[in-house]
Amino acid sequence: MSDLRDLYQDMILDHGRNPRNFRETADANHVCDGHNPLCGDRVKLFVKVRDGIVEDISFQGSGCAISTASASLMTSAVKGKRVEEVRELFDDFHELITGDPEQQPDSSKLGKLAVFSGVCEFPTRVKCATLSWHTLKSAIDKDDKPASTE
Ligand code: ZN
Repeated sequence: MSDLRDLYQDMILDHGRNPRNFRETADANHVCDGHNPLCGDRVKLFVKVRDGIVEDISFQGSGCAISTASASLMTSAVKGKRVEEVRELFDDFHELITGDPEQQPDSSKLGKLAVFSGVCEFPTRVKCATLSWHTLKSAIDKDDKPASTE
């Protein structure tokens, strides 16, 4: 189990240092800002949805390694997915992070996102890991209000 934890930690550090999809998408049709006041994390998401599919997604912003890694892994995971699938993934991810560690959801659907399973043991970091997801949900719900974890 500790090997797995090290692997997870390495992946979070890697994505935190070298975030994927860290850019602006010029033709995004959903743009949303998110803020986690608890830690000072900020994220701006650029989502391009066409025919119910997330064709492109990218982000910018600044925050701690966990929030950056989460946005990086999230954008990689949802690109090319249908909006309904993205909503399901949001629910699964949220359950993984905030749920009972003894009753984790089926992580096979979550793929690499399962690296955040250890975060539920650190309540103060939960909002860092979920910030980009709340922001994505606001973006696809076409809610123009900035997302906040508060
Ligand atoms: Zn943070």
